[in-house]
Amino acid sequence: MKKTKLKLKKSVYLIIGIIIILVGSCIIGVKVYKDMKYKETNEYKLLEAGYTKEEIKILEQNFSEEEIGSLANASKDEFLLELLQDEYFIKDNLNRYTAYHNEFLNDSARLVVAKINANTDYNYYTHDIDTDISKDYLMIVNKYYHLGEDYEPDDLVTISNQYYYGDGHQIREVVYDAFIDMWNQARNDDIYLIINSSYRNYQNQQEVYDYYKDTRGTTYADSIAARAGYSEHQTGLALDIFSTEYTTTSNFKNSPAHLWLKENAYKYGFIQRYQENTEDITGFAEEAWHYRYVGVEVATYLHEHDITFDEYYAYFIA
Ligand SMILES: [Zn+2]
Repeated sequence: MKKTKLKLKKSVYLIIGIIIILVGSCIIGVKVYKDMKYKETNEYKLLEAGYTKEEIKILEQNFSEEEIGSLANASKDEFLLELLQDEYFIKDNLNRYTAYHNEFLNDSARLVVAKINANTDYNYYTHDIDTDISKDYLMIVNKYYHLGEDYEPDDLVTISNQYYYGDGHQIREVVYDAFIDMWNQARNDDIYLIINSSYRNYQNQQEVYDYYKDTRGTTYADSIAARAGYSEHQTGLALDIFSTEYTTTSNFKNSPAHLWLKENAYKYGFIQRYQENTEDITGFAEEAWHYRYVGVEVATYLHEHDITFDEYYAYFIA
């Protein structure tokens, strides 16, 4: 009786032992399998390539599983991370950013995003887009976006010769109202602003451009004037502004009037459209006198952020 009991006890221990070994093997097996599987995941490969968890999150926010898969099989792309973290990154432009970067390795991610968003990877006047005039005073006209030969704003008003050297010049009403407010405030500060150029129709612009082209050649003409259809002056939203004391393109830049405009024009909805060091983006060398009306909200944004209207348009309006 006792012997049988002992035998039974032994068998129970044996069975328990076997169960423990089986369960243990299973647990180890599952773990090994899981590890193996994890090593095949994008996360593991990206961590191995040197991406941090934060950076992986950025990739996941921007790319599909499949796209991340191909990134995971390559070495870490620092430049891509910089692009993705740029405030004005546009996903649709990614291939163009990359192609541009491969050609111009010294440009920062910020500059690449700025240039490509402004289309400057295309040659001037070769990538024509009819500008969307429904954007009204936020429409863009530059060396890519242009107006048709027949475009003429329907709210042009005549500028009083109190504000302009000469008679009969026109500008859009919304711009005129804003300019008069600005002119009055400037006068209170002893600055006397005077307009030197305003709305130009297609034919006027053609004449301006042809004059430079005929006297100095195409390269010079392109550097100093927009071709017909590509000038902001045709929008009726641009004014060339000088002061009664400083009336030339060479002396206006360092005048009190220009300094005043730099600090105050945005409050009336105007921006200096072509600034120092933005030629690579706007396509125009600095013009201290050329002001574009974009409304107070956008002008204030541009005053506070270091971007051009071309970039603003690509990111917020187009
Ligand atoms: Zn101008």
